[in-house]
Amino acid sequence: MAIAKDRDQKGGFVRPSSIAASIHEQIYQRIMSLEIPPGARIPIDGLARELNVSQTPVREALTRLEREGLVRKAHLIGYSASPQLTHKEFDDLYRFRLMLEPESARQACLKLTPDTLARIESAAADMEKGEQPVDRNSRYSRFARADAHFHDEILKVADNKFVRQALNDQHIHLHIFRLMFHSRVTQEALEEHERLLAAFRAGDADGAFQAMHDHIERSRDRLAAAFE
Ligand SMILES: [Zn+2]
Repeated sequence: MAIAKDRDQKGGFVRPSSIAASIHEQIYQRIMSLEIPPGARIPIDGLARELNVSQTPVREALTRLEREGLVRKAHLIGYSASPQLTHKEFDDLYRFRLMLEPESARQACLKLTPDTLARIESAAADMEKGEQPVDRNSRYSRFARADAHFHDEILKVADNKFVRQALNDQHIHLHIFRLMFHSRVTQEALEEHERLLAAFRAGDADGAFQAMHDHIERSRDRLAAAFE
């Protein structure tokens, strides 16, 4: 990545925080694309050599990825990529979402203002725009983040900090997008988001509940194929 290269060529010109961010991004991409497969060990020294940086930014990146649930640290073994969700965890995660997200969409609909609706619409639009990603890998990880952002904007408007935190703590989208790396989801998900937005625009709280419910169920059905 550009930032890491700048640092290699010019020494101290780039702030350490941007090096850390760049290293985080590169490791994140590798995990999301399964280039680093679930369960694989991630040796700090090897990675630092490969990315041509010291071990410090690699350690920082791994600490952050551990918080995000994408890597695990074991005593004496070090870091490894988190295992893929089991089928049961996947089912439980979707049941959990179905308990919280449709009701949050209903609450959000009741609390919407023109401003917050515009923010949700803009988060939805972010999923479709942007330059054509160079490969499948960056396409999916970008989609994962944009989708997480869209869902979180709705939770913000619903304004229940415990529900929002409970959902965010699961890092749902990161896990799910590793699962669905090989499937096509994007277009269908966008259409489902559109249905949700239509309910928001119409102030139809029950419609928003139903649209979110259907979106999550369909998302589950699309991804369940990963276990077959
Ligand atoms: Zn979605």
